[in-house]
Amino acid sequence: MRLRNIPGSRETIAESPYVVHDEESYKGKWHEVFGNDHPIHLEIGTGKGSFIMENARRNPDINYIGIEKYSSVLLRALQKMEQEELPNLVFIRMDAEYIENVFEKDEIDNIFLNFSDPWPKDRTAKRRLTSDRFLKRYTNIMKKSGKVTFKTDNIDLFEYSVEMAKECDWNIEVVTRDLHNSEYNEGNIMTEYEKKFSQLGNKINMMIISQK
Ligand code: SAM
Repeated sequence: MRLRNIPGSRETIAESPYVVHDEESYKGKWHEVFGNDHPIHLEIGTGKGSFIMENARRNPDINYIGIEKYSSVLLRALQKMEQEELPNLVFIRMDAEYIENVFEKDEIDNIFLNFSDPWPKDRTAKRRLTSDRFLKRYTNIMKKSGKVTFKTDNIDLFEYSVEMAKECDWNIEVVTRDLHNSEYNEGNIMTEYEKKFSQLGNKINMMIISQK
């Protein structure tokens, strides 16, 4: 999702109390940001934020961090936060490529990847959030017990991601190619893209993986 550049979005983000700006300075100290020792869940590519906000609402004893690369998109999430503050949720505007500079080993419990950009060309495959490079980065910030949950309607990206997880020696805990008609749909929180694509009749795929 890349909205047109919205004038003033960078400035609004710079001033927002819901965004952590000097994110690298909190490496190993994210509990200080929340003021408690609750588990931390990340959503990478959080978009307009409705998925992570609903998670934060339902689970006040879990801390959430939404990572989004583009100011113009993150701005939409911040506008929602102005209507409803959630003390267990903050955002970072950054490229997830650099997450190892921001989080310490064992600092993150779970990671959510929702409708990640497919980067269909081979030469840009390394940018996929389920590429071997990214899976390695997740290993370097997550607890051993942590899980990565990935949803997409893009079947090619999904099959690639399942293969990548196998090649990188992760446990495949759940694979469904029709989440909404599966036993795993109970409690599912739909993202903005999930609502849009399922209304078009697209099947939603989901994979949950954990480290061996
Ligand atoms: N997760 C939302 C949903 O399901 O409705 C948005 C999906 S949208 C297709 C993908 C989002 O991921 C975009 O907002 C994009 O800017 C963001 N994104 C892609 N690559 C990223 C990266 N390397 N770091 C941070 N955000 C990224």
